[in-house]
Amino acid sequence: MRRKLIAGNWKTNLTANEARALVAAIRVELDCDAAALARDRDLMIAPAPVLIPAVSQALAGSSIALGAQNMHYQDKGAFTGEVSPLMLKPFGVAYVILGHSERRHLFREPNDSINQKVHAALRHRIEPILCVGETEDERDRGRSVEVVLDQLQQGFEGIEPQDAKRVSLAYEPVWAIGTGRNATPDQAQEVHGAIRAALSGRFGAATALAMRVIYGGSVTPDNVDSLLTRPDIDGALVGGASLKAESFVRIARSQAG
Ligand code: PEP
Repeated sequence: MRRKLIAGNWKTNLTANEARALVAAIRVELDCDAAALARDRDLMIAPAPVLIPAVSQALAGSSIALGAQNMHYQDKGAFTGEVSPLMLKPFGVAYVILGHSERRHLFREPNDSINQKVHAALRHRIEPILCVGETEDERDRGRSVEVVLDQLQQGFEGIEPQDAKRVSLAYEPVWAIGTGRNATPDQAQEVHGAIRAALSGRFGAATALAMRVIYGGSVTPDNVDSLLTRPDIDGALVGGASLKAESFVRIARSQAG
């Protein structure tokens, strides 16, 4: 059985004080359920890089893992403005979101750089969450699966099956991110199923069945259950709804799937 992953992406939001208060409010609710939740799921929060030390401290002793929203693939060097895996590791960063649509589209991040980051994360034992997703125009042209599988193939260039198992995928249709318009469970399952089939072709059925494919794009407490009941949807990457303790906690507790 695959463990679910419920991950919050705080993007470029919150000050250190606000971040500490949000973690405290989430912990008031989730710490008492931690053992039950830990049976079948992992929880993660990814704050902005400058908040990582404060959030690392605030999460100490909780079962909620810490994630980064991005990182550079080199350990150190002349890369002004970047954060390296070596800088993240001492704070207990266990996950890194890579190839988020905002990185791909607003910052023109190419597939080859995302692929190098996947390799770097695996080298440093940080679990990559590789994001893929089509634009609205690509969906309208019936190219969703083709676009997603191309991003998948490029993101996994040079990755061996034993390492692929340590990667989670996030299907995040660009048109659903931050728009309040989530993919329907059928739309999401269609793409998740295609991703699982492609992973099976590339890495073998056993590896594909072990890999998590989570959905992101306007997930809320009201739609999470219908998405997570689908067979190939293994969790959620949550943006806006992760910025409020009440909604993140309700999503984290989803009993679907
Ligand atoms: C995201 O940023 O990954 C995301 C899915 O955002 P939202 O939940 O706000 O659509």
